[in-house]
Amino acid sequence: MSPGPPAERAAELRRLIAEANHAYYVLDNPSVDDVVYDDWMRELEALEAAHPEVRTADSPTATVGAPAAGQRFPPVRHRRPMLSLANARGAQELEAWHRRITARLAEEGMAGVTPSFVVEPKIDGLAISLTYEHGVFTQGATRGDGVVGEDVTASLRTIAAIPARIDPPGGAPALMEVRGEVYLPLAAFAELNERRARAGERTFANPRNSAAGSLRQIDPAEVAKRPLSVWCYGVAVVEGLELEGQWESLEWLRAAGFPVSRDIGRVEGFEAAAAACARWEERRAELDYDIDGAVVKVDRHDLQRRLGNLGRAPRWAIAYKFAPTTATTTLEDIRVNVGRTGAVVPYAVLDPVSVGGTTVTFATLHNQDDVARKGLLIGDRVIVQRAGDVIPQVVGPLTADRTGAERPFVMPVDCPACGTTLVQPPGEVQFRCPNRSCPAQIRQGVEHFASRAAMDIEGLGEKRVELLFERGMVRSFADLYELHARRDELVAMEGFKDRSVDNLLAAIEASKARPWSRVLYALGIRHVGDVTAHAVATVCPSLDDLLAADAERLALADGVGPVVAESVREFLSSQANVDLLQRLRAAGLQMVSDTPAPSGDGPLAGMSVVITGALEGLTREEAKRAVIAAGGKPTSSVSRKTALVVAGADPGSKLDKAESLGVPVVDGEALARILDGTLPVPGAADAGAPASPVADAAAEAAGG
Ligand code: NAD
Repeated sequence: MSPGPPAERAAELRRLIAEANHAYYVLDNPSVDDVVYDDWMRELEALEAAHPEVRTADSPTATVGAPAAGQRFPPVRHRRPMLSLANARGAQELEAWHRRITARLAEEGMAGVTPSFVVEPKIDGLAISLTYEHGVFTQGATRGDGVVGEDVTASLRTIAAIPARIDPPGGAPALMEVRGEVYLPLAAFAELNERRARAGERTFANPRNSAAGSLRQIDPAEVAKRPLSVWCYGVAVVEGLELEGQWESLEWLRAAGFPVSRDIGRVEGFEAAAAACARWEERRAELDYDIDGAVVKVDRHDLQRRLGNLGRAPRWAIAYKFAPTTATTTLEDIRVNVGRTGAVVPYAVLDPVSVGGTTVTFATLHNQDDVARKGLLIGDRVIVQRAGDVIPQVVGPLTADRTGAERPFVMPVDCPACGTTLVQPPGEVQFRCPNRSCPAQIRQGVEHFASRAAMDIEGLGEKRVELLFERGMVRSFADLYELHARRDELVAMEGFKDRSVDNLLAAIEASKARPWSRVLYALGIRHVGDVTAHAVATVCPSLDDLLAADAERLALADGVGPVVAESVREFLSSQANVDLLQRLRAAGLQMVSDTPAPSGDGPLAGMSVVITGALEGLTREEAKRAVIAAGGKPTSSVSRKTALVVAGADPGSKLDKAESLGVPVVDGEALARILDGTLPVPGAADAGAPASPVADAAAEAAGG
């Protein structure tokens, strides 16, 4: 199809690119595939080269990023522009770049100079600029349109990898501006998307957009919740210091305390640079952050200056782009999967397509709202994205390609595994199968129970679980521990042989040694992941503690809020679950923590303790956990039964009440001493100390 007169096509391309730029840079939500975008840019560049009259001053080929929309953050003018990078797709384009710079150097009277190159990962994140004055971090900004960015200092201060203060060898310069890339590690990216989908929020298409979206939140406290990190790769301005080249700049940055990737190398000659790019591409999947290419930079600054810039990118650097992690294919169908907690999750069945070297046939769709938000119809041409080892996802449909034969996805009414009518609990986006004996849930539950992070039963994968389930041999976790009595039946089953049965039975036996926190995780209670399970095991160090625990006690576990507490309570309110736990205990599983349990003879044994006000150096939760570990029972209101009140700064009415009831009061420091046994509990039978006001508590009790 002829695109029409050059001026018209150029105008159309500029419009398409401007729209895509807005979606990508401002909304952090790309509307087209990168490959499509890059093709538009290349077509526009070629048109402008062949017909210079179609070129406009604001052409996207001459500008960087997109201007910020609205005044979310104050503007920051960069001391030196933050440019883009020209890119090379494949080895031939990389060689063409090398020929161009060699010719340019020859024009500059430097024929025969063989430059050294620095080859760096091209991190798929968000470019930032960090200003330091006399060694102190004073301002951080996004790239924006390359000239003016957004002031995101407060957000950047929450990133631990960015030093607040530097002390480089030779002293801190009066002023310096460092360039780097903020990124979200892949695992955090996957987790963030899961969480957003569950909350009914839009998911991010790639780690870059999630890093940008995370950093550009107004509330720094929200930014702090995302584990953003940073790699630094350049010094834009440094007063009073002469750095010879890129390599020396990176070494200086590292010595000054900035995070600089250890994998960056300097190589002699172009062949070695091309080989280093290929190595980065091979290593790509090993990294815990996404890279979309390798950047080859001419090392020496004097050569960089000779080469200069061309439009919006320096001539002395090139981004060698890897095979794309996005592809376009057809969405053949949308089906649903029933997870171990009963969540019914739609997934995309795709016409198999190669994405970043792997064939992708299925992609996650999180929930039906995600399908609706993305505007997907079955039969659509769609963009599929894969980042590192993260599960592939469908970014969105190419609506212009629709034929009219596409049809909407309809959530099934009944569970595809057991036929029970699905429910959507109020306030939740996910549909669920409410049947706890749904075969899909049981099978997946057993798989989870046996998984490496849980009971780690080697040899009990998906296929075997299915087989054991179908034969009726395993219908609950506890059945696994009775399989040894059915060895003969197992040996006779397809897919099992003497040796493998013995290995499996031995693995099941060995799993009895897993600690209580792992058992808790293996149970697959909704919202109780491995970290939460560990925290719950700390406040409920045995099955009996768990069975007796109320919501208040559970809430003392790190990361446990009302939702998790309710989920645990709901699990325990089922007699079938309690019976299961008793069977597991009888089978010999570890139902008691091996970390010291709150001892009956700890310094606070049996005492009700109220903590009020802010304690120095200890969060409220830490203090409560310490009280539990010492045998005490943290409670929230002061009464005659309260044995001790621990009061910090601004204690409020609880302190007044304690004093009016004559309940002993101590401060945080005295609590620490009580816990380590160097101070008796005031007012306790053997302490001999009278009830005492906060300020004097430690001194009086110590003396008493
Ligand atoms: P770019 O991302 O291709 O390259 C420049 C950027 O690379 C720098 O600003 C910096 O942030 C980053 N970078 C990472 N590691 C680096 C290192 N070691 N050294 C130097 N820089 C490093 O350029 P761009 O102008 O930000 O974006 C263009 C690309 O973004 C396009 O090629 C396309 O893939 C994508 N894009 C896509 C859409 C879309 O709609 N899909 C829209 C706009 C841009």
